[in-house]
Amino acid sequence: KRKLSLETLPENGAPPASASESGVQVIVRIRPPNGEEEESDLIVQKTSPNSVSILDHTFTFDSVADVGSTQEALFQLVGIPLVENCLAGFNSSIFAYGQTGSGKTYTMWGPPSALSEGSSLSSERGLTPRVFELLFSRIAEEQAKHSDRQLIYHCCCSFLEIYNEQITDLLDPTQRNLQIREDTKVGVYVDNLTEENVCTMKDVTQLLIKGLANRRTGATSVNVESSRSHCVFTCIVKCQSKNTADGFNSLRISRINLVDLAGSERQKLTDAAGERLREAGNINRSLSQLGNLINILAEVSQSGKHRHIPYRDSKLTFLLQESLGGNAKLAMICAISPSQSCKSESFSTLRFAQRAKAIKNKAVVNEI
Ligand code: ADP
Repeated sequence: KRKLSLETLPENGAPPASASESGVQVIVRIRPPNGEEEESDLIVQKTSPNSVSILDHTFTFDSVADVGSTQEALFQLVGIPLVENCLAGFNSSIFAYGQTGSGKTYTMWGPPSALSEGSSLSSERGLTPRVFELLFSRIAEEQAKHSDRQLIYHCCCSFLEIYNEQITDLLDPTQRNLQIREDTKVGVYVDNLTEENVCTMKDVTQLLIKGLANRRTGATSVNVESSRSHCVFTCIVKCQSKNTADGFNSLRISRINLVDLAGSERQKLTDAAGERLREAGNINRSLSQLGNLINILAEVSQSGKHRHIPYRDSKLTFLLQESLGGNAKLAMICAISPSQSCKSESFSTLRFAQRAKAIKNKAVVNEI
């Protein structure tokens, strides 16, 4: 076990190699109707490459992925840019947001059968395995391309769950209630979280299978605890570059966060009392705090006025603060169901997506 550490980050004041201000890339994905949803119940339609209509309202984003969109298409939209940003030295995150059953888990990881080892060519595999396939092949390409430099890459992954404002290590679930620490040199990290080196797809797949099996309940279960937990898969990519001619060394570090958020539907608290009520309040604290931050950040980006951003008010926002208005490129996949029965949650997701679109992040390359 090691501490997730960015100890090699530049000291404060070191000039970044390059900086980039960019908006959040917002993609809406419409899940195909399931067996219970009839043609006449469907109220959501893609009306152009980047717009979606629900009843008589139309919303516009960066892209809309239709009911027929493939996992490969989603990868092309957000996975390839994530890997290229990461290799360029930018921290890069993808968040999946939406109500339970809208396709977040399917999009981020794919169905369990598509993940299992040996099925690397399953067309249903999700974004995460595809991201690592590309990352490893691009690393090999970069290494072969530069004859003047020796490039050494290290990729270290961790996998955690936030449930009821408690962090559990999905790679070692005996580690519960882990604490977030912040250090001026190291940045934000989770104390005692397992960190595993990965070099091959087999390494990554094993971590994903193990971690997803350790979620509170099976990934396909609708409504219960798994839908209330946030899953965060993180990879720190370090690239050490040695110039073979002049011996000049540099180190570039970037972080990838792949985040499957808790279901965004309003929770029913009617039967809860006492301890259970307090717990129920906590369960969604991270998600409601994410919503608050998105509102505040959207307002700050639009008005240009400075404001205190309460990142520390929940575990999720404390841990992922860099991705929210900070030093990272962010893509947000907002998943919706096509059906009439999900109308109000779909509207709520689309409004959330609209606010997220207004946020500006300022990503810098971490290089020394
Ligand atoms: P969530 O993680 O948002 O709760 P899931 O990813 O578990 O939702 O999706 C709910 C169900 O719909 C699952 O059975 C999943 O396999 C299926 N599903 C979701 N999106 C798609 C899609 N784009 N294509 C095919 N099946 C999908």
